[in-house]
Amino acid sequence: MDLVVSRPEGLYCPPGDFYIDPWRKVDRAIITHAHADHARVGHNHYLCAAPGEGVLRTRLGNISLDTLPYGTSTVHNGVKISLHPAGHVLGSCQIRLEYQGHVWVASGDYKVAPDLTCDAFEPVKCHTFITESTFGLPIYRWRSDAEIYAEINAWWAANAAQGKASVLYGYSFGKAQRILAGVDSSIGPIVCHSACEGLNKAYRDAGVKLPETLTVSEVLDKSTYKTCLAIAPPAAQGAAWMKRFGNAYSDAFASGWMQLRGGRRRSNVDRGFVMSDHADWPGLMRAIGATGAEQVIVTHGYVQVMVRWLQEQGLNARAFVTEYGGEGEGEQEPAA
Ligand SMILES: [Zn+2]
Ligand SMILES: [Zn+2]
Repeated sequence: MDLVVSRPEGLYCPPGDFYIDPWRKVDRAIITHAHADHARVGHNHYLCAAPGEGVLRTRLGNISLDTLPYGTSTVHNGVKISLHPAGHVLGSCQIRLEYQGHVWVASGDYKVAPDLTCDAFEPVKCHTFITESTFGLPIYRWRSDAEIYAEINAWWAANAAQGKASVLYGYSFGKAQRILAGVDSSIGPIVCHSACEGLNKAYRDAGVKLPETLTVSEVLDKSTYKTCLAIAPPAAQGAAWMKRFGNAYSDAFASGWMQLRGGRRRSNVDRGFVMSDHADWPGLMRAIGATGAEQVIVTHGYVQVMVRWLQEQGLNARAFVTEYGGEGEGEQEPAA
């Protein structure tokens, strides 16, 4: 009994007659989180975890949306549906489906390490677990957030002491807020690109504590640009928005890809901070083990490596081909 199959429109639950993060327009979609590759416009009806309502509406506008608090359930066409924290971004969820004694969990994107801006990943027991594999290679091992924030703070403070701005590129939804939540705002003012600011508001409205931020139109004193931390999406690199910082600024990129040799050089920035919203290799293995699943289906990322590894561990493992991106590919800025 397959509770989730792959269709041209997206991952589909046959007995429930609904889709999970579909990439083509469908009638009913359950959304794991509001990143652009998982949450698309045009579906007739949406369901998401309650803490994700604000960010989903910020990104998709006026949609027909139901929400479900984490851990509570609803029944649709006989399929019991509940949503559980995925620890990836605000409102991200794993979708647990139960039908005639079979339990499947679709994880969407997830991270097992703690995050100041969202609920912690919850292991959910199931027979079949659908896992992402964005950083599914043994080389990917993240350090603690405390270490990463200390690095960012030291870089910012050193730049500020020299009278130059610290421009940090990170995805406008998730990464930007996670950076904000942990940096030391006593070092100087914080300027945010407008692409981040709308999502900052959705996070604050949801009760996530973020330091005070300014958009460039709110910066009245130009000396702000000499000591500030500026957070902007990668698309701002080389764009007109950067002109206000003059030539004397340092730039950096916060992404899991910064762990790759050459990642920083290819992104053409001064510094790279290895900060990801996805599980690293030990995290993926720990999460998969905790489900107790005998069948694992791998989606976007290093699919073949993960499938082979899991098979070698004695699990029944296979892949779904999806149209989800990885960190930074599907998680671009919305076109508008
Ligand atoms: Zn994502
Ligand atoms: Zn994804």
